[in-house]
Amino acid sequence: MAEQGKQGGTVFGPGYVRAISPYVAGKPISEVAREFGLDEAGIVKLASNENPLGMPESARRAVADAVAELGRYPDSNGFALKGELSARFGVPADWLTLGNGSNDILELAAHALVEPGQSIVYAEYSFAVYALATQEIGARAIEVPARDYGHDLEAMAAAIAPDTRLVFIANPNNPTGTFVPAAQIEAFLQRVPANVVVVLDEAYNEYLDADQQYDSLAWVRRYPNLMVSRTFSKAYGLAGLRIGYAVAQPELSDLLNRIRQPFNVNSVAQAAAIAALGDAGFLRRSAELNRAGKRQLTDAFDRLGLEYVPSSGNFVMVRVGDDDGAGARVNLALLKQGVIVRPVGNYNLPRWLRVTIGLAEENAAFIAALERALA
Ligand SMILES: *Cc1c(COP(=O)(O)O)cnc(C)c1O
Repeated sequence: MAEQGKQGGTVFGPGYVRAISPYVAGKPISEVAREFGLDEAGIVKLASNENPLGMPESARRAVADAVAELGRYPDSNGFALKGELSARFGVPADWLTLGNGSNDILELAAHALVEPGQSIVYAEYSFAVYALATQEIGARAIEVPARDYGHDLEAMAAAIAPDTRLVFIANPNNPTGTFVPAAQIEAFLQRVPANVVVVLDEAYNEYLDADQQYDSLAWVRRYPNLMVSRTFSKAYGLAGLRIGYAVAQPELSDLLNRIRQPFNVNSVAQAAAIAALGDAGFLRRSAELNRAGKRQLTDAFDRLGLEYVPSSGNFVMVRVGDDDGAGARVNLALLKQGVIVRPVGNYNLPRWLRVTIGLAEENAAFIAALERALA
């Protein structure tokens, strides 16, 4: 007989799926306009760590050309894009896996490497998708307490259990913006057992300052249990197209390639990514704009006496009050003024908001709205 739900209806799916809290995305502009009776044109969205420059012009042209071929399936193996990535990073094409966003890569890793009941290690306050990827396969989460809102890699190494098969590390981390220096990551990799795969999620890698940059692909050559994931959604400005990639030795890459959907990355995304990858000027402008915008925001937080976590990404997490209602309250006050940021109560950070660094005028609009919200 079928299991019965609370109201007597049939219950579908395993308990570990029913226990999942759905991912909370940044509110779309159109939804805020409807809910608060605002004009879409006046709304500032700093909620999803998108590139405020939008997509590069080079990618826009590539998209226009690729549209003509949309009657056909995409190249399942992403030959052209993998060729470009391969040349850029000096790794063979069979070390690369393309994903429908790097989110896809994170889920593929969990599905390919972990059995139900085995464990996955990740840090408190790290990217929400790690918890989702763990839950959706019925794995056990080992969430390691953060240190100063970031990864405590010594504690994470110590937390690895005999049944641990995967570790997620975000560097820089979202939503807190913290950064783990290269030496600490390398020390961690040396400690991790050979049968435990480390996914080093570098979604914000392209925003790192020169003195923070490190060669994670050299580690991929040295550690067969390391996978580096990157995305075209953030600095490359292609969030809407959904494309990211993983770099790992062939034994690991092969597993991801077996279980991914054959056409998981569409042809328009592949064409745009090739163009964006070659657009060094756009990447440089994005990083420069981000650096200036970060200073604009943190100067304002200093002036307003607000605590924030120093960020290495394209966003800053700021504490907007001393009580657990503060994040939701200030968020609502901002929404009413047409400014969308990201409350992080779902990360158990109810006093904080995460603000994406926007154009100078968007940052200024946010700061002005924040001052009114706090007044
Ligand atoms: C944004 C983000 C991603 C993935 O974004 P995609 O759009 O799926 O590529 C992955 N990891 C972190 C930490 C992120 O913030």
